[in-house]
Amino acid sequence: MSGREGLHRFGGPPGSLLEQRSAQMRQLEQCEMCRTPVAARHGHVVDTTRRSLMCACRACFLLFTKGAARRGRYRAVPERYLWDPLRPVSVADWDGLDIPVSSAFVLRTDSVITAFHPSPAGATERRLNPGFWTGFAAAHPLVAAAEPDVEAILFRRGEHEVDCFLVPIDVCYRLVGTVRLYWSGVDGGDQVRDHIGELFAEIRDKAGVLAGGSR
Ligand SMILES: [Zn+2]
Ligand SMILES: [Zn+2]
Repeated sequence: MSGREGLHRFGGPPGSLLEQRSAQMRQLEQCEMCRTPVAARHGHVVDTTRRSLMCACRACFLLFTKGAARRGRYRAVPERYLWDPLRPVSVADWDGLDIPVSSAFVLRTDSVITAFHPSPAGATERRLNPGFWTGFAAAHPLVAAAEPDVEAILFRRGEHEVDCFLVPIDVCYRLVGTVRLYWSGVDGGDQVRDHIGELFAEIRDKAGVLAGGSR
């Protein structure tokens, strides 16, 4: 991961906060499985036992994308981005998430569903109202489409609407890293808003429509 990705572990035992990885570790631009140097853009593999994200060369990434390997300890983070134009997320939905900042992501590991939001101190866990989430997930098939451990549902509150995307989990690490790196003052400042805006513009560009999401 690059320094901008900023955060290398999440979870730990279910319920713990996302953790930071040390600055030295983040300097390493090599495959964490076979030590081959990797390009700035590279894939990631989730270690579901340690709840950490590992940088991977293409060969190692591909080992964990297919068949039985998909259900093993190491899982390649998919590269797809999806949205569902037919079932937009309302401001009332966003309020139901009860997130104090303007972006958040929800991740499923086994049967545990956890919300996080970026903060200057890293990713902060947020308790989800189970009743709200059950209803939201039932009305939004994008949620069920997300693969546990490796994909997340990412939200961003705009002035009049709420963006909602299914994204690779490493994008959430980038969001958290961006907020840590550029946050200043009490409200974050313009710089962090610009960088978050760029990240969401990139996500929007890449996002395809959920299958069955248009009729
Ligand atoms: Zn990486
Ligand atoms: Zn490798």
